Parts: sequence; C-alpha cells; structure tokens
Amino acid sequence: MLAIDPRDGDGSSNAGWKGNRDIMQVITTVQEMLAWRSGWPTSRVVGLVPTMGFLHEGHLALMRLARAENDLLVASIFVNPAQFGPHEDLARYPRDLPRDLQLLEECGVNVVFTPEPADMYPVGFVTYVEPGGTLANVAEGASRFGHFRGVATVVHKLFQIIRPMHAYFGQKDAQQVAVISRMVADLNLSVMLRIQPTIREQDGLAMSSRNAYLEPVERAAATILYRALLAGQRAFESMPARAPASGVTRVMQKTVASEPRATLDYAEIRDPATFLPLDTLQAPALLLIAAKVGETRLIDNFLLRPNGIWETGRVQEKEE
Ligand code: AMP
Repeated sequence: MLAIDPRDGDGSSNAGWKGNRDIMQVITTVQEMLAWRSGWPTSRVVGLVPTMGFLHEGHLALMRLARAENDLLVASIFVNPAQFGPHEDLARYPRDLPRDLQLLEECGVNVVFTPEPADMYPVGFVTYVEPGGTLANVAEGASRFGHFRGVATVVHKLFQIIRPMHAYFGQKDAQQVAVISRMVADLNLSVMLRIQPTIREQDGLAMSSRNAYLEPVERAAATILYRALLAGQRAFESMPARAPASGVTRVMQKTVASEPRATLDYAEIRDPATFLPLDTLQAPALLLIAAKVGETRLIDNFLLRPNGIWETGRVQEKEE
C-alpha cells in the first residue's frame, strides 16, 4: 500500500526523527513519547497496536498487518489499572517485558511505548472518557463495572499521545471494538480502526494472555467456550429466520453446563454495533459468551456479518 520502506530514511528532513534503521526504540514516559511523536515527519503513516503485553499470536497478527500498512509502527504495552475492577487480576496479570520486546522487534515494530501507571494517571487525574448507554452497560460492562470507562480513557489517551492514522484491535474483544468505534465517531477522532479476526489455538480456544492462568485440566476444559459458540452457530443456522434468539442462547448455555469445570457468566445474542439484545435471529448478530473455567474468566464470540457470512476467527497455523 505504501511506497516508503518504514525503516529506510534517515529522516534528515526532520530533526526529531532519528531514523535508526534496525533499532527498536523503547519509550517509557509520556513526555518522551510526545517529543518523539512531534519529531516524526508528517508525511509518514503511523500505526498503533495497543496491548497489555504478555504477547501471543493474536497480538502478533495485529502487529504484522500493522507493519504492512504503516511507515511507523508503534506498539504500546500498558496494563491499564483503570480497566480492572478492585477484585480483578491487575496485580497478577501476566507480564514478560523482555520476551515481548524480542517478539515486537521480530515483527519490525519501530517504537514500543510502555509507560508507568503513575505517568498515565498522575496524582490529581480526574478526567475520564465515559461510554454510556446499553453498549457500555451490558455483557462485559455489566460483569466488569467501570471496565469500558477505563478502556475508553486509556485508548483516547494513547490516540492523543501517539496520534496514529491507523489503530489495530482484535475481534476477540468484540464489545471493546464497539465501544472504541463509538468513541471515535462520537468524539470525531481522526483515526481509522482496523479490526482483525480472533486468532485461536489448534483446538479452538481463543488466544488470550489470561490462558496462562489455566491449569492443564482447565486448559482442556476451556475449549467449552468455543464449543458452545459452534453449537450456537449450528442452532442458528438450523432455525428459520426471525425465530426467537432464545433457542440459540439455550443451546449455548446447555453446552457450557456440560463442562463441570466451567461456570457460565452469560451467553447472549446482540447487535454487534449497539449491543442491543436481538430477540429474533437475524444478521448482523454477535454470539457472545463469558464463562469462568476454574478461577479464570474467559470471553469469546462469533460474528454473523450483515451479508450472512460468519466471522469465527482463525486457527493459528502450526509452526514448522
Ligand atoms: P490485550 O493485550 O488483551 O489488551 O489485547 C490487545 C489487543 O489484542 C486487543 O485489541 C485484543 O482484542 C487483541 N487480541 C487479544 N487476543 C486476541 C486474539 N486471540 N485474536 C485477535 N486479537 C486478539
């Protein structure tokens, strides 16, 4: 898409751009990131992939696409305290910065932005982005009170600091995609969102940093979310258009109930943009599921696009 090799200039036209050909920059403060950003030539297309680190193939698929579509690729690693509830896993969220940096360098990332929480939320911080309405208050928003306020706030801050033309997100977090899309529209943010399919393990489990919490027996049981979605998809397809959506959610619930290690949080069918519940079967539709396997809370979804094509994600190909 772009004629310019992202790493080939010395940036002599701009004093702030250091133009290191092969060296990935790691930036740890907001101030330094702002200084770097203001030094980048305006002609260069900037892409951003926000993450919380402990990277897996789901993240790396976003990086590879972003690498191909931008001159300068910024990845952020920030475990955002504002999106965790008081009883959630902030303190034990898995972290491995050295490994993450190596993976990002291999993907050709130019800059890794990894700020400290006290820098993103200094003493006196009071201004949050508050998504409202159904979208922010059902499904994940109901189970994780304040979660989307934390997500919207940090993503808005990252957009302000890095000013990307393109920002990359995974369909795995379907409600996050909807909330951020709404924020971009509502606040007239000049960024183009690029949404990528869910990347799955060979057995269908959606990749997630939280999968690291699973004991081996739980890891086997965790495929129940994917199996429930498959069962829901089959039920959806076997029923006439406009049949009650409850027929499908019941099938998903029953599937999860068949796995003793899993506790269902919700199995729902919603509009993918507004998250309003769908009473009857129609496209577009999101089949959503959240369940605990042991103590680990997992989410997953299948998307039925308006054209009737299912987006169920992609199984990660085996390494040779
Ligand atoms: P996280 O580090 O969990 O905040 O995720 C960072 C980005 O990666 C978000 O846009 C996620 O939706 C995306 N992501 C996480 N897991 C996957 C996956 N299995 N497939 C595709 N994207 C993913």
